[in-house]
Amino acid sequence: MYADIIIDITHEKLDKVFQYRVPEELEGDLRTGAGVIVPFGRGNRETKGYIVGFSETCDYDAEKIKNILRTDTSSVMIEARLVALAAWMKENYGGTMIQALKTVLPIKRTEQQKEQRILKRCISREAGEKKLEEYLHKNQKARARLMAALLDDEEVEYSLISQKLNITLTVVRALEEQGVLKIKNHKIYRNPVKEKEQQRHFITYTEEQERAIRTFENDYKKGIRKTYLLYGVTGSGKTEVYMEMIRQVVKEKRQAIVLIPEIALTYQTVMRFYRTFGERVSIMNSRLSAGERYDQMMRAKKGEIDVMIGPRSALFTPFPSLGLIVIDEEHEAAYKSEQVPRYHARETAIERASLEGASVVLGSATPSMEAFYRCELGEYTLLELKRRTAKAELPEVYTVDMREELQKGNRSILSDRLHELMEDRLKKKEQIILFLNRRGYAGFLSCRSCGYVVKCPHCDVSLATHNNGKMVCHYCGYEETVAKKCPSCGSPHIGGFRAGTQQIEELVKKEFPQARVLRMDLDTTRSKEGHEKILSAFANEEADILVGTQMIVKGHDFPNVTLVGVLAADMSLYSDDFRSAERTFELLTQAAGRAGRGKKKGEVVIQTYSPEHYSIQTAARQDYQAFYTEEMNYRELMGYPPAEHLMAVLVACEDEALLEKGMHYLKLYAMRITKNRKVQVIGPAAPAVGKVKDVYRKVLYLKQESYEILIEMKDKMEQYIELNRGFAKMRIQFDFDPMSGF
Ligand code: ADP
Ligand code: ZN
Ligand code: ZN
Repeated sequence: MYADIIIDITHEKLDKVFQYRVPEELEGDLRTGAGVIVPFGRGNRETKGYIVGFSETCDYDAEKIKNILRTDTSSVMIEARLVALAAWMKENYGGTMIQALKTVLPIKRTEQQKEQRILKRCISREAGEKKLEEYLHKNQKARARLMAALLDDEEVEYSLISQKLNITLTVVRALEEQGVLKIKNHKIYRNPVKEKEQQRHFITYTEEQERAIRTFENDYKKGIRKTYLLYGVTGSGKTEVYMEMIRQVVKEKRQAIVLIPEIALTYQTVMRFYRTFGERVSIMNSRLSAGERYDQMMRAKKGEIDVMIGPRSALFTPFPSLGLIVIDEEHEAAYKSEQVPRYHARETAIERASLEGASVVLGSATPSMEAFYRCELGEYTLLELKRRTAKAELPEVYTVDMREELQKGNRSILSDRLHELMEDRLKKKEQIILFLNRRGYAGFLSCRSCGYVVKCPHCDVSLATHNNGKMVCHYCGYEETVAKKCPSCGSPHIGGFRAGTQQIEELVKKEFPQARVLRMDLDTTRSKEGHEKILSAFANEEADILVGTQMIVKGHDFPNVTLVGVLAADMSLYSDDFRSAERTFELLTQAAGRAGRGKKKGEVVIQTYSPEHYSIQTAARQDYQAFYTEEMNYRELMGYPPAEHLMAVLVACEDEALLEKGMHYLKLYAMRITKNRKVQVIGPAAPAVGKVKDVYRKVLYLKQESYEILIEMKDKMEQYIELNRGFAKMRIQFDFDPMSGF
């Protein structure tokens, strides 16, 4: 028996695996992930290593292979637990142990440390307030935002300000010249907030918040560790609840991780955590260099912080005594990794929590089908916040049937209602967002007269039009020729929805020549600051109308926006993906939430060809429960997650013919091993994008109720792939319960 071992895993040598012999006396004791002591290097220095796999044969001269000395008794170490988590990830999501380890372990890279800029207010509070008034008076909104932040906290970190408040260096320099602030450089980031406890404002929790907090607290004190789902609309006080739970965990000398999607990690949110937990908080974001990330991780390991806030990767913060993992906006697709191992942060968090005796709190205004389903099964505990704490009213939502617009002779992209309301807002000098729902756009075909959408007869997902005149199912490969007439009503007005953000921008400019229009999409945000420039210009009210794709509906608050128009709400509905209704519901709910954030009440117009679809109706009513019930019926009927599990085998290859052949054999093999197990094998099919940079792609789906059986299938297929050299030129990945197309 031989073991593959990784030495000194916290450093850069991760890529290399060394083989050692397992001595007989240790044979029963060792598992993947276990820490061991081995002789290493020429001097045979006793070194710590981790087992990442076993084999019966050795790849080297058996004479030269050294023995493992003993198991490492100090393996209560944090790394050992993360290695065990990596082993679980490899098992549950596929890929190699090295790939899994690289995901969970902070790796030291020698790198120049970036300097951190701190902005310090150097005028008194009173003088600052005067300045603030002056900026507001002169309509210098960016300066006003910066001044307001400096009044809240005497010192703020520049990167946070620039990212989250959309403030440019020019603005900072201007205030510096006026003697309002000083720019200081810090080598190591220190949290600027000092008088933490004084700044905390005490609030009286609502009854609902109180109940959620007590439930958690009582369990926690009794040593019960669970997964909770905190379900409550935006503004219902979820963040306050998380912070109270964290406070209780920290009181017991344990630490907490808070996952927030990068796009929702707003300045305000981060500052709330800073004010509550002061120096003991750290944040992680994609702008940190690898070196900075490593430093943050080491601070956590040394016990210098109690709370880590960040996107998906912050889940692997090496805290010595983890007590709680919070996942805010748990429904976000960004929680699924698109790299091997293709892990989901929710499931992985639950596994990590169970390995380390911690609890998990998931939070959302539109919980994922998975999370709500687990609540129904009794696996998670549901905590609900039904009411908003603030006075902000929910917006008024109108649904417009675009088929009727066509009948009335209106062929424009804008319905009469939306047009009217836009005129009204322009007159009142309030702002408008036009949201073009292009998510998952795959060129589906729909009828503008009756709303009929051409679907796959086998999969109940829409067919995508291809350039060769065919409509294709991306799940099973079914195809037919493109229809010229609507198969349902015979109308010739059948086609794809082709308008892009650019056409909409042009149209709006033509119809409202006096309006100032900004556009935000992939084209206008390609440059590094493009994204922020547009958002800050809109926040500064330099434009009346913002036209954009889904990137504008998340996380940003524009208090002067009182009208949101959703164009082509159906677009995401008929993407070729079983989650399309769920995404539509989420997007519409979020888009609606953009209107009326300030004191004025907002209105939302949803334009659609399928007003009768449940995802649109329930979103317009903001009725999650009704949506869930309908959607779950569909998932159960079709056997899609969370009712059953779906494993995608994604294969990429430069040689198309070879790929075809490989898929053929892979499918035969899959059919053979699944024969007696009621596993459905679907495909091979071309994914939404069939070729990327001259590499062809195909996908095979396996469907089964039991995840364990799918894992078995994956293990067997991995072995089969490894044993057959024909697959050497193909890149093969597994994706469990996929969140998006390949
Ligand atoms: P969510 O995270 O659900 O969007 P937040 O926790 O951000 O909600 O709360 C929304 C706003 O209401 C915040 O400004 C917060 O400080 C405030 N708030 C929350 N709970 C209370 C409460 N019990 N009393 C007063 N204000 C509250
Ligand atoms: Zn029709
Ligand atoms: Zn199909």
